[in-house]
Amino acid sequence: MAESTNRSAVSGSSVPRPDANAADAWPAAHGWRDASPDMLAAIGGTPLILLKRASEATGCTILGKAEFMNPGGSVKDRAALAIIEAAEAEGRLEPGGTIVEGTAGNTGIGLTLVANARGYRSVIVMPETQSREKIDFLRMIGADLRLVPAKPFRDPGNYVHVSRRLAEETGAVWANQFDNLANREGHRRGTATEIWQQTGGAVDAFTCSCGTGGTLAGVSLGLHELAARDGKPAPRIVLADPHGSGLYGWVKSNDLGVSGSSITEGIGQSRVPGNLEGVAIDDAVRIGDAEALGQVFDLLQFEGLSIGGSAGINVAAAIHVARSLGPGHTVVTILCDSGARYQSKLFNPAFLREKGLPVPDWLEAA
Ligand code: PMP
Repeated sequence: MAESTNRSAVSGSSVPRPDANAADAWPAAHGWRDASPDMLAAIGGTPLILLKRASEATGCTILGKAEFMNPGGSVKDRAALAIIEAAEAEGRLEPGGTIVEGTAGNTGIGLTLVANARGYRSVIVMPETQSREKIDFLRMIGADLRLVPAKPFRDPGNYVHVSRRLAEETGAVWANQFDNLANREGHRRGTATEIWQQTGGAVDAFTCSCGTGGTLAGVSLGLHELAARDGKPAPRIVLADPHGSGLYGWVKSNDLGVSGSSITEGIGQSRVPGNLEGVAIDDAVRIGDAEALGQVFDLLQFEGLSIGGSAGINVAAAIHVARSLGPGHTVVTILCDSGARYQSKLFNPAFLREKGLPVPDWLEAA
């Protein structure tokens, strides 16, 4: 039977299945890990799932890292843990201390849960335009939540600046996820290493969208290091960007100009965050909301995978990258969070119609 007792094994038809009759078949098949000393140990180590339709459509192996399985339900648990551990190591965060952050929601959820587990308080500043589900969840887990009107980064009322001032005024630690390199460092050490191990070092390309850029940058740095160590060619790194973001233009022609908009949350930028600086990015693809939602709905309906809008952008981008590479390649992307986090938007026919987006049959009938 297969040896994998780690929940990070690649889930796919080419992977040998454990003997279903063996006494330990269930843990081996389902990748349970050993008992964890605390919740923090459950962050990371996520499965890398074969996306069947995307793979079949392209003749490539397209794999999605199931970040919605982190305790806080998103990829941002990793950044939250890395930022808090770095602040502790630098002696800036002590028992009973407070950490403040401006966030589209997921980082706030991760920071609050890690803070609860470690005995800190969290203050979370968030634009009021973000999904009801993230706002409710933050309140549920006890975050001190400050909702602010959505303002562009150049405006002093922008949530990032509000959070920085709040930290300065109260003497709290400012997480500063956009420019704090502990963010990408967490992904370099964790996410990139896991992807390399889970694919046996066979990654031709990696693509994902950027909020802080911590995921893309950390994975790019880590995969480059690991490929060089193992004498393999560096994987191609492709940034996926929604409309309304300047990063596509930045990668393509060093032009951060912004046009259009997107219903996706947590991704897109009008500036280059510190986490993206000095990182190898080979190309960028622009993905519209309708195309991303097509992936969100298809993955749910045909593969039982519930993902949010940014993950939909990522999967669509992975398909573009696979097509540009041609059959036989392996492309990895990130399934950032789950669809449940956007139930009132992405799965709400009235919202979709108002935005001129397609409504899937089963929602139409509901
Ligand atoms: N998707 C979602 C849903 C997010 O909340 C975020 C973070 N804001 C991202 C993607 C982007 O991750 P990163 O900040 O590492 O670029």
